[in-house]
Amino acid sequence: VRTTPGEPEFHQAVKEVLDTLRPIIALKEEKYKRQAILERLVEPERQIKFRVPWIDDSGQVHVNTGYRVQFNSAIGPYKGGLRFHPSVNLGIIKFLGFEQIFKNSLTGLPIGGGKGGSNFNPKGKSDREVMAFCQSYMTELHKYIGADADIPAGDIGVGSREIGYMFGQYKRICGSYEGVLTGKGVTFGGSLARKEATGYGLMYLTKELLAINGIDISGKICSVSGAGNVAIYAIEKAHDLGAKVVTCSDSTGWIYDPDGIDVKALKEIKEVRRERLTEYKNYRPNAEYHEGKGVWSVKVDIALPCATQNELHLEDAKMLVKNGVLAVCEGANMPTTLDATAYLQQNKVLFAPGKAANAGGVATSALEMSQNSERISWSFEKVDSKLQNIMIGITHNIDEAAKKYGMDGNYVAGANIAGFNKVVNAMICQGVC
Ligand code: NDP
Repeated sequence: VRTTPGEPEFHQAVKEVLDTLRPIIALKEEKYKRQAILERLVEPERQIKFRVPWIDDSGQVHVNTGYRVQFNSAIGPYKGGLRFHPSVNLGIIKFLGFEQIFKNSLTGLPIGGGKGGSNFNPKGKSDREVMAFCQSYMTELHKYIGADADIPAGDIGVGSREIGYMFGQYKRICGSYEGVLTGKGVTFGGSLARKEATGYGLMYLTKELLAINGIDISGKICSVSGAGNVAIYAIEKAHDLGAKVVTCSDSTGWIYDPDGIDVKALKEIKEVRRERLTEYKNYRPNAEYHEGKGVWSVKVDIALPCATQNELHLEDAKMLVKNGVLAVCEGANMPTTLDATAYLQQNKVLFAPGKAANAGGVATSALEMSQNSERISWSFEKVDSKLQNIMIGITHNIDEAAKKYGMDGNYVAGANIAGFNKVVNAMICQGVC
């Protein structure tokens, strides 16, 4: 990590993991040192950075930077999403790729860690412009990926439209119809329930975590940040489970709807019309729209950050604790800052880190890979039931790992320990590579 200055998000992710692993590493310190396990763990196997030129509707040529970080393939082919957002840089892709190693290990499925993306901003672009960008991005990326090598998926700014355009370009260049991407449309190899999986999975884990601690999710009031793929389906499942979500947000403002967020309206605004949350009041005149940030100021029992990294700060954590929050479960990747996490844990708030709580997305992506290999499609119910079992399994796994090492209730430590042990064991068995 010392050799990679200027990557604060990556350093933050590494610090969180290594700090909690101290007692585990101490048990086998000599062996891990001789094997340079930590040095190998924080150095990606491969980092690819490339030019992505594309032409807009007026004929102007633009150039973006594309990335794919193939972090660790000890337990399976690289697997992790692609993010298209103007804030993307190598440090952000590395933080996401590093987290992905442990998350994928926690799912119990044979998938290694990787992540990619570009600083391209899909907002406000026409369909043709998005297609031009996706085709150019895949024209370079196809050299490094494959159904048994590296299988990207979606993330911020990459949904089924973008995956479709990239899949089409891969097929065209390689002449091969293979499960090289997940999150595909269901008519061409996508899995039912993949779209819902991260948000649903978050709520399955949240329900189980509360139950382990003697709390029933039914009747609880929740706040959600974000209004994208993860947020929408977390809200939908929370309502199915008898909880009520009263907030959501996008990068310009946030909604407070005391009657519970109207998921149908949210889907219409965000998935169909691709508009701002300001539109929500047209559907629900009694709801409040506020500019800027503020979701964490609302009094709730459960907080579910589902937008982006470092969106829940120490002052937000203090506000949540003051308002009596019981649990914070991360739908996004690393949405809570390190000091906010520590504060929540010190104040006995149940805290589920993203690498466990949002693992339902990648787990279902791995189920999509299985279906593609079998040339078969499973029913929604079958995929959803496997997802539930995986999330319940993860909840108990992280709980038990924390207990085993004397850190009862510290699910950050539990997730890191459970994820780490499996990957490191595989790395050692495979020799120095
Ligand atoms: P989407 O692009 O569908 O939605 C992201 C949401 O967060 C949007 O409402 C967006 O608002 C908001 N947002 C994004 N960046 C910012 C920012 N810098 N400041 C404020 N708001 C922001 O992405 P997803 O829902 O897929 O992803 C959300 C999080 O979940 C990410 O951390 C992602 O890595 C993580 N995740 C996603 C998985 C998946 O399956 N999709 C799987 C596991 C984790 P706006 O539209 O205005 O930009």
